[in-house]
Amino acid sequence: MHGKIFVVGTGPGDQEYICQRAIKAIESSDVIIGYKTYIELIAPFVDKNKLVASGMMKEVERCQEVLKLAQEGKTVSLISSGDPGIYGMAGIMLEIVHNRNSDIEVEIVPGISAASSAASLLGAPLMNDFVILSLSDLLSPWEMIEKRLHAAGAGDFVIGIYNPRSNTRVTQLTQAIDILLKYKKPETPVGIVKHAMRQHQEVTITDLANLDSHDIDMFTTLIIGNSQTEVLNNKMVTIRGYKV
Ligand code: SAH
Repeated sequence: MHGKIFVVGTGPGDQEYICQRAIKAIESSDVIIGYKTYIELIAPFVDKNKLVASGMMKEVERCQEVLKLAQEGKTVSLISSGDPGIYGMAGIMLEIVHNRNSDIEVEIVPGISAASSAASLLGAPLMNDFVILSLSDLLSPWEMIEKRLHAAGAGDFVIGIYNPRSNTRVTQLTQAIDILLKYKKPETPVGIVKHAMRQHQEVTITDLANLDSHDIDMFTTLIIGNSQTEVLNNKMVTIRGYKV
């Protein structure tokens, strides 16, 4: 008796942005596990008679439960918002399966990550080399994050920022802006996208000098331009160099 695990990305939050493979994986599962909010998003695709466990469990416990059910022979979908392999559940699930010496099949189903959805709402800021940084120092030491901010600034990358600020982490963004101002002009365009493709969506284009005065929280993704990023007809565009 062999189960299977899908780690399913559900995109930014609107059903139209969930891929077909994700819907098929969910439909073929005996159990679906995830946070309540994400379970609500996929509710229309789930057979109501099936067990849907909405987890109050922590990430590691949730993955342990998924493995246990799969080992009992069930097909299980573990739901992760955006792309499950970008600061999501995919890595934790693969680590647990490996560490428990299991040979259960794990399929990662990609989703549209916040960087892509935010970029599309802003225009086309990711047209050239970019990096994604998370400002959360819960799992990474702040010194490492600072080092990466310096490197991204020195490399003139477009920078996507996840987890910019939360109720308990309020200073990191200000420190990050100070570092980036050593490399980038104060007038560098910055896109602020809150609740992309969800209720209460907000899209703002500002610049690096004024970024800190905006209301930024844990539902926000930032995209900071490079030296070639411009605002054209209210859209943020990183010029790649085509003769147009
Ligand atoms: N796996 C997710 C990212 C999880 S980390 C993905 O691929 O999108 C959580 C961070 O993602 C948030 O703090 C925020 O910076 C960003 N984020 C996730 N969904 C978002 C949305 N709908 N709008 C704006 N930012 C979002």
